[in-house]
Amino acid sequence: MHRDPDASAACAHTHRDVDADAAQSRARSYAVSRGTPFTPTRQRVLALLTATGKPMAAYEIAEKLSGSRKQAVQVYRALEFLQEAGCVHRLASRSAFFACDHRHGERETVVFMVCSHCGAVQETASELVARGLRGAAKTTGFRPRHPMIEVEGECAKCAGAPAS
Ligand SMILES: [Zn+2]
Ligand SMILES: [Zn+2]
Repeated sequence: MHRDPDASAACAHTHRDVDADAAQSRARSYAVSRGTPFTPTRQRVLALLTATGKPMAAYEIAEKLSGSRKQAVQVYRALEFLQEAGCVHRLASRSAFFACDHRHGERETVVFMVCSHCGAVQETASELVARGLRGAAKTTGFRPRHPMIEVEGECAKCAGAPAS
């Protein structure tokens, strides 16, 4: 009997394969709850990000969807909506957006791990980090509302790849 080393190797939630259907239906029900339409632009932006699986800048998304950067404003608005819906995150360090298919708690601290080689993003929610952050913030009287931490580094795949 051999055990699959990959099975349940980590509980960390990776975002390499985003469940597109789950993301779409979450965005759709969020739109319904807010009484706002889930417009074709919103659907297409989300579909592109879930299919790409990597962070993209807004103008890149606009170019992919319409062949020009002119739609960037609409794309930005769609991205704002998708972030509110919790389907898309923004990487501040790269001004790029990527799809997320897991529900975050309201005050959950999320850690984004960005590979500087391939650009892949993995994310994990860590209560330990959250506690540390709350402690650090307390000393300054700062109240973190939606803490997101970006860490740049090397993903497992790139770290394990032979030097080329
Ligand atoms: Zn997420
Ligand atoms: Zn990598």
